[in-house]
Amino acid sequence: MESRNLTKLLEEQGPFEVEGDLVGAMHRWDAFRRENGYAGYAPLLTPPSGNLKLAKLTAYGLPNYGLTLSAAEGSEEFDACTWRTPMCTAACVLVTAGKASLPSVVKARQVKTQFLGRAPQDFVLILAAELKAASLKHGGIAARLNVASDVRWERVAPQLFELEGIRFYDYTKAPASQRDDLGGRYHLTYSVSERPRSEAEAVEWLDRGGSVAVVFATTRGHELPSTWKGFQVIDADHDDGRYTDPPATVAGLRAKGAGRRPEAGGFVKEAVAT
Ligand code: SF4
Repeated sequence: MESRNLTKLLEEQGPFEVEGDLVGAMHRWDAFRRENGYAGYAPLLTPPSGNLKLAKLTAYGLPNYGLTLSAAEGSEEFDACTWRTPMCTAACVLVTAGKASLPSVVKARQVKTQFLGRAPQDFVLILAAELKAASLKHGGIAARLNVASDVRWERVAPQLFELEGIRFYDYTKAPASQRDDLGGRYHLTYSVSERPRSEAEAVEWLDRGGSVAVVFATTRGHELPSTWKGFQVIDADHDDGRYTDPPATVAGLRAKGAGRRPEAGGFVKEAVAT
């Protein structure tokens, strides 16, 4: 079966609301999980304690919550990464669907992704409720809805970005022209990849005041280049809080072998200032 472009499918059916029959949606999610061999209901969001990357607190100390779907065609039915490249797909599968993850974790993501594709309004109601509850519990959170996907949430469920006390941020491989600016309510970092046009697309993001992530061939313990394409490079290896970065900066990462950060594209740049 050919997998369907998840964000396109959702955008055609949406946008989806954050208020509605939450109890019904939760019952349907519970039933869907049972149909797929689970004991019942489970939260959609991963809390800060459930993921090493999310556990890295930001400069503001906001707890990170993340939504992890099945990267690429991991759900078989839906492709959650419209702009993925061969290299990032390979790295992502290695990290999120290979030896690093238990089959039970992989399956749970697949089931979650299938529920989003088949019952998007239910999914968004539950997601909004979990975000609100987490924000209330902590007095504010950071949220990453595309931990391993590239869904245009600003089109699928724009009301999510009006929820109180939540700093939304994500990485994307989409050109700047393909993502909508929500006036600072959704911080996006463009991930440079191996595609020939990727560097030019990165400069477009930077020219618009956006952020880009670049993996450099800098080894651990060594300084990253000070600039890339004339833009300031900051050391982004210590946290995932990209929304705290100044406008028009490059989030520099050090290459970390085959499992290097998939959201950075797995494409290594020379460790010299440009
Ligand atoms: S790196 Fe991003 S775009 Fe590429 S497969 Fe992984 S989640 Fe999808």
